[in-house]
Amino acid sequence: MSELRVAGLRAGVDGKEILRGVDLVVTSGQVHAVMGPNGSGKSTLANVIMGGPGYEVYEGSVTLDGVELLGLPTWERAQAGMFLAMQYPTEVPGVSLADAMAAALAPQGRAPAEVAELVAAEAVRVGVSTALLARPLNVDLSGGEKKRNETLQLAVLAPKIAVLDEIDSGLDVDALKAVSQRVELITNEVGLGVLVITHYSRLLRELRPDVVSVMRQGRIVATGGPELAEELESTGYAGYSD
Ligand code: ADP
Ligand code: MG
Repeated sequence: MSELRVAGLRAGVDGKEILRGVDLVVTSGQVHAVMGPNGSGKSTLANVIMGGPGYEVYEGSVTLDGVELLGLPTWERAQAGMFLAMQYPTEVPGVSLADAMAAALAPQGRAPAEVAELVAAEAVRVGVSTALLARPLNVDLSGGEKKRNETLQLAVLAPKIAVLDEIDSGLDVDALKAVSQRVELITNEVGLGVLVITHYSRLLRELRPDVVSVMRQGRIVATGGPELAEELESTGYAGYSD
C-alpha cells in the first residue's frame, strides 16, 4: 500500500507564486481526479511533484510513503515509484522508446530482452504500432500516438503512483478509450494510485475516479466524489470562488 501526500504546497516560477497551498492524498488503487480551468496550476502541481526544472518550492511537502520527494532529482523520484505522463510529451531524438525502457529498468536487474518483450506486449494492448518502438521517442508523432506512448511507458515501468497530466488532450475517441481502459485495468489489477488531471469528465467515464478535486488559482477549492465531475461538466467552474 502506497501513499502520495501533498501538504501545504506553495510553489511557483521566478518568484511568482502559482500553487498557493495545495493539500491532497492519493493512495494505491485510488483514482484522484484534479479538474480546473486553464491556468489554475494543474500542470505546475504535476511538475513540482515530479521535480520538473524551473519550479521553485516555497513551502510544504510532497511525500511518497513518508519519504520527502522535494529536493530529490527527478530520476530518484521515478526510482522511488513515481511516474508523470506529461501534458506535452518531450521529443527525444536519438533515443528509442525501447532503449529508454531498457535503461529505466536496468537498475532493477531486468534484462533488455525481457523489457523488450514487455514493451512489445504493451504496444499491442495500447495500440502503439511496432514500427514506432525503434524510432526516436515521440519525434514526429501525432498527439494521440504520444499519449499512447506515455501509457505504454506507464504500463511497462509499473510505478506506485502515476500523475497523468491531460492524457486525454488531443485524443480521438478510440485512443481515449485505449488509454483510459488500460490505466483503469492497471489500477484494479496491481493497485496503481493515479492522480489524473483533466478538463473533461469523458476521460473519467472509463477511468473511474474515487475522489474529485477542483483547482482554481493554485488552490483546491472543492473535493467530492465522482458526481462532482459530472456536475462540473454541466455547470463549469463558475460556481467556485477562488
Ligand atoms: P494549468 O495546467 O492548470 O492550465 P499551469 O500550471 O500550466 O496551469 O499554469 C498556471 C499559471 O502559471 C498560469 O498563469 C501560467 O501562465 C503560469 N505558469 C506556468 N508555468 C510557468 C512558467 N514556466 N513561467 C511563468 N509562468 C508560468
Ligand atoms: Mg496544464
